[in-house]
Order: sequence, then structure tokens, then C-alpha cells
Amino acid sequence: MANENYDILIIGAGFAGVTAARELSQKGYRVLILEARDRLGGRTWCDQKLGRTLEMGGTWVHWFQPHVWSEITRYGLEVIPSPEPKKAYWTANGQGKEGTPEQLFDLLDEANQGLLADTRKYFPLPYEPLTSKELKNIDHLTVSEKIEQLGLNKEIKDLMESLWALNFNGPTERAGITQAMRWAALSDNNWQLMLEICASFKIAKGTKALIESIFSDAKADILYSKVVSQVEKTADGFTIKTKDDKQFNGKSVITTLPINVLNSIDFKPSLSAVKCKAAKEGQASKGIKFWAKVKNFANPFVAFAPVDYPINYAHLEYVEGKDGIIVGFGPDAAKLNPESIYEVEQALRQMKPDLEVIESAGHDWVGDKFSGETWPMQCNNQLTNYLFELQNPEDGLFLAGSDYANGWAGFIDGAIESAFTVSRKTADYLKEQSTKQRTIQ
Ligand SMILES: Cc1cc2nc3c(=O)[nH]c(=O)nc-3n(C[C@H](O)[C@H](O)[C@H](O)COP(=O)(O)OP(=O)(O)OC[C@H]3O[C@@H](n4cnc5c(N)ncnc54)[C@H](O)[C@@H]3O)c2cc1C
Repeated sequence: MANENYDILIIGAGFAGVTAARELSQKGYRVLILEARDRLGGRTWCDQKLGRTLEMGGTWVHWFQPHVWSEITRYGLEVIPSPEPKKAYWTANGQGKEGTPEQLFDLLDEANQGLLADTRKYFPLPYEPLTSKELKNIDHLTVSEKIEQLGLNKEIKDLMESLWALNFNGPTERAGITQAMRWAALSDNNWQLMLEICASFKIAKGTKALIESIFSDAKADILYSKVVSQVEKTADGFTIKTKDDKQFNGKSVITTLPINVLNSIDFKPSLSAVKCKAAKEGQASKGIKFWAKVKNFANPFVAFAPVDYPINYAHLEYVEGKDGIIVGFGPDAAKLNPESIYEVEQALRQMKPDLEVIESAGHDWVGDKFSGETWPMQCNNQLTNYLFELQNPEDGLFLAGSDYANGWAGFIDGAIESAFTVSRKTADYLKEQSTKQRTIQ
């Protein structure tokens, strides 16, 4: 296999890599996927924890996400709802409160309407996020600055910071307001619908079932545990070197590395200065997802806590007899070890003091050298400074993935969308190359 010449070498077997492999191999191109891990899925991963299969990464899908939804339809997969919360707990302005989810969302409604008021003006076509000529006027703003401008009372301000730190999986000081508006634009400018889209419905058999279905239709070769270290442009195409000193040749390359680890590969010649700068800067998410089994508590709830707490969001996801399984997020991976029952219990008790954690689990995607981030969320200025260039191929070398998508960037949907676009561009490139060669002969 090592000496074979491929049409396309794909780096990474997450949703973007596997979808691109299916699209291009079905067109008759010879495709090889090189994956650093020993499994498919990348930032989606169904692991056996707390006595059941749990999603360590990407989970929820929705019919407002057209690319992933069409794949779910294509493969006939069942989608099921997460439990609807009946109770809400929130800590804001130094006080713990409880009520119904409706009461909590009513508190946040006016502030979110204000935050997202200009969405339609700046994003008239949600899948073409660079359409507006006026983007530069707002792209410099962070979510935190915009919240400040709204002049909210302390309780609502704390809650808004918490909600948006959840959405960005990181503090709002680096969160770009245009990124927030892009989510809203894709959700018919309705922030509550936006939350439903992000965390309400999941694939019954897990994300694994979807990626395996896509992969089963790809007529591509794949090698696992192959960490790509170098991509070099040659007279005939590209040579890729891996950390175990193997070499692979192809006419074109699609890399699906998340932006935060893009610079881990030595590209020869170097990627454009703008791409390198975007990768060096990194995006806004730096948080953690955790799972916790709690004793004698199985009531569907949702909870928010301030952005400086280790956990700022949690809800009940499964019921097991009298016990419950909670899923949640914190805005800083450095502040919570999800595998530590003690740390998770202490953090959850800041939201609901009587919880007793029996077991906990999670994966540090930020510390993971093959991701370096959770779901990609742009900082201020990154939409106008980088997106166009990140989508711009470099003589047969293409960037695909959720980090580079137009629509639901940061989601499985974005990974699939980007793979479709890049597959089309790669096929066009290869056709052009073969026409050129025939003309020379
Ligand atoms: C905690 C968490 C929760 C999330 N929740 C949701 C959700 O509910 N819904 C949703 O839609 N999305 C969610 N996401 C986001 C979603 O999982 C990702 O956007 C999507 O899976 C990214 O797919 P990708 O193919 O673009 O990138 P990846 O899945 O990151 O794939 C890139 C691949 O490249 C490989 N790679 C990296 N470096 C190298 C190298 N040097 N050599 C070879 N291979 C390499 C990686 O191992 C990986 O397999 C979540 C993500 C996380 C982390």
C-alpha cells in the first residue's frame, strides 16, 4: 500500500474525512485515509463508560442541520429526544435559585433578543457568512462586550455570560459576536430554537452508527495509528510522511485537522501566512464535557452556573432506576478533571448541593494532541480575517472539516458540509490536472 499512488490522500477519519472519502471514491478516485487514532470518528466517540455507551464528544443533531439530517435519512437511522427538563436551577448574582425551565428562559429572552438583534442584517444568507459588506463593523466585538453594552442587571448578565460560555465552551471574552449571530441566523433568528437544535435530539445508536454507515459506502483504503508529520508538494503531487517513517504519495491532499492542531504538520511549502496565523491564534473553545452518575436523583432538570465555576451547565440525560446520568460542560478544561469523582461532585454541588456522584467520565479534547479544542468557535475578528482564506485551496491541498464550514461550523453538520464542498473542489482540481497533462502529451 505504501508505494501505491493515490489520487487523494485524506488526513483524518472524522466526519469530514470519511464523508470526503465516500464522495470521492464513489466518483472512481483512488483514496487513502491516514488517521492518527485507532478508530473512526475524531471528535465524536462512543465509549463504554458508567456501564453504558456514552458520547464523549459530538452528540446532538437536528433537522435544522440539513447535511447531517440527510445522512441520517439516507442510512435510515433513528433519532431520539433527550429528556425534556421539568425543573431549572441557576446561580447568578451570588444566589442559587430554582424554577421551571420556562421561567429561566423568560429571564433570558429580552437580553438574547438584544444580543442577536442585527443577525438578519449581517447574515441574510446563513450558509454564505461573508455576504454582508458591513461585517467588519461588528466582527471586532466579543460576546462579552456586546453583553456589557446591553446594560443588564447582575443576575441576567451572569446568566447571559453562562449561556454563551456554554455555547462557546469557553469564556465570552474571546467569543466573537459574529459567531453567535451565525448560530442564530441558522436557527431562524430564534435563540430558544437555537438551543433546541444544539442539544435536544441524538442518534439512537450513537454517532458511531452514522460514521460507520458513511464509511461502509466509501471504497477507500484506511490506515489507523498513522500520525502525519509532513506534507510536501512534489512535481507529481504530494508526499506525506508519518511519524513512523512511512511515506505515501497522492495527486492531492485533503487535511481535516482541527485549526488548533493544524500547525502540528510541517507543510512544504508552508501554508499561506494567513492560514498559519489563524492556526497559531486558535479558536475560542477550551472547555470540557463530563458525564456523572448520581445516586437517587433522576428528575429531568437543567442547571446553569457562573462562567468562573468549573461546571457552568448540566442536565439529566439518562435514568437508571433511582439513579440519574448527568451530562454537562465547563468553560475551562484546566479547571475540571472529568474522571475525578471528587472534582465532579464538588463542582456539581455548587449548582445543586445534595448531589452524590457515584461515577464520572469525560475526555480532555483540549489536551488531546489530535484535536486541541472541543467544538470550534470563532473569536472576534476571525470570521473576516480568516474564513475565506482557510477555505482557499493551495495547489491541490485542501482544508476540510467542521472548523472551516460555512453553516453549522463547529457541528457534525459543518464537517459534512465542508466535506461536500471540498470533495467537489478536489474533483474539479484533479480533472483540470488531467486535462493539462493530456494537452502537454
Ligand atoms: C465535547 C464535544 C461536544 C460536541 N458536541 C456536539 C454536538 O452535540 N453536536 C454536533 O453536531 N457537534 C458537536 N461537537 C462537534 C463535532 O464533534 C465536531 O465538529 C465534528 O465531529 C468535527 O469533525 P471533523 O471531521 O471536522 O474533525 P475531527 O473529528 O476532529 O477529525 C479530524 C481527524 O484528524 C485526525 N488527526 C489529527 N491530527 C492528525 C495527524 N497529524 N495525522 C493523522 N490524523 C490526524 C484526528 O484524530 C481526527 O480523527 C462536539 C465536539 C466536542 C469535542
